[in-house]
Amino acid sequence: MTQPKQFRASKGTRDILPPDSALWNWFEQTAREVFGTYGFGDIRTPIFEETQLFARSIGTDTDVVSKEMFTFQDPLAPEELVRKVVERGFDATKVHVAGGQAPKAIWDALSEFEWLTLRPEATASVCRAYIEHGMHVLPGNVKLYYVGPMFRRERPQKGRYRQFYQIGAEVLGQSDAPAIDAELLEMLMVFFKRVGLTRTTLYVNSIGDKNCRPQYVELLRHELLQVKDQLGPDSRRRIETNPLRVLDSKLPHEQAIIAKLPRISDHLCAECREHFARLKDELKLRGIAYEENWRLVRGLDYYTRTTFELIAEGLGSQNAVCGGGRYDGLIELLAGPPTKGIGFAIGSDRAILSIRESGDLPRLPGLDVFVAWMGLSTYAAAVAIARKLRESGVSVELPGEEMKFKKSLNLADKLGARYALIIGSDEVASGTFTLKRLADADQKKLSEYELLEYLESEKRGTRG
Ligand code: ATP
Ligand code: MG
Repeated sequence: MTQPKQFRASKGTRDILPPDSALWNWFEQTAREVFGTYGFGDIRTPIFEETQLFARSIGTDTDVVSKEMFTFQDPLAPEELVRKVVERGFDATKVHVAGGQAPKAIWDALSEFEWLTLRPEATASVCRAYIEHGMHVLPGNVKLYYVGPMFRRERPQKGRYRQFYQIGAEVLGQSDAPAIDAELLEMLMVFFKRVGLTRTTLYVNSIGDKNCRPQYVELLRHELLQVKDQLGPDSRRRIETNPLRVLDSKLPHEQAIIAKLPRISDHLCAECREHFARLKDELKLRGIAYEENWRLVRGLDYYTRTTFELIAEGLGSQNAVCGGGRYDGLIELLAGPPTKGIGFAIGSDRAILSIRESGDLPRLPGLDVFVAWMGLSTYAAAVAIARKLRESGVSVELPGEEMKFKKSLNLADKLGARYALIIGSDEVASGTFTLKRLADADQKKLSEYELLEYLESEKRGTRG
């Protein structure tokens, strides 16, 4: 007989289990709280979208789109096919759906709808939703945040997974005032401080806009062609496809060459220069420490002007915990109205790794009380008090079967309970409870009222 197969989580994915998940919940909950104070609302977009959405917004030449997407085909249902055919201006009567005999031109035009991709990032989805729901008519800037998994088919290693988690925020609207960029960065730093991620460096740069970047890119390409022979294959390829990305190279032998290349800061147009200067003033005004890094370019094509990245200590080469920037042309690229945008995405996996490594972990709620009841005659009292304690927010473990006293205390200890609540026939008779603190075996006899009062106030004291 063949052995049944034992399954494991797929390559690059993993389970997040208690008590780890409590740290994750706390991390994400803190983001929700901080972002809420800056007026951001939660947006939940689908986990998959049409492949074309990502290809168009992120850019087909980026690593994310060219190598890392999880894409799958969803053959269209006949009625959907007909609807799409008509939407695209074809004559529906020409599609013999039953026989699948549509002319090739129609198939080609439609095939793009059939390809879906697990989201590698969420800015494209947020922009799609902004356009789809006509959010440009909303008053003021539209401020949204999201929390959830992203998918990229990468080589898994520490801090790099195929399913990973991001917390991101986006500001969309008519204004591109540098104050928006600065406030977003302030919010980011406030959040990082709240979760104890303080050993970080914020790098900022401006990569220009559609007026000045093309000239700079041409200049860069020209200069790169002069030194082509000294570059590795990736950089050589990028001279044609995306010269900016060469600046991001980590290859040791390319560093000296890159250091001599022209810098974008010397080639920004007047508006971009002004925008960047005002951003830096704003950051100073808000007391946000940053370093300028002219080589900071982002891996997604949609960025303009402000770009930034946060690096955390102690993470080795996967040390970027947050990336972001402006994407003023993106909404229009996706057929929406002229709109400015800026956002960031925090890599939660890496941020949490870094918090864990710093050892500065928050005290998270665990098991408060283990109910050690003895003798079937005490069971009803045990069930009743467990329910009351839980109603007042105390976390309780109640064994469903009778246990020997010693075994009971042993289990309470192993579960990490802070107290054992002892209920024997004496306690039931006198209407009291014995509360034993497991750390130092300190014992109190309390009435039900006193017990609830004591544990509730204790709980309040350990919170926050
Ligand atoms: P990297 O250069 O490390 O690949 P990136 O530039 O591709 O990062 P972004 O697309 O800007 O990353 O995503 C923002 C953040 O999401 C990153 O700073 C990182 O913390 C996190 N991140 C990106 N890809 C992964 C991954 N495969 N596993 C874990 N975290 C990731
Ligand atoms: Mg990447």
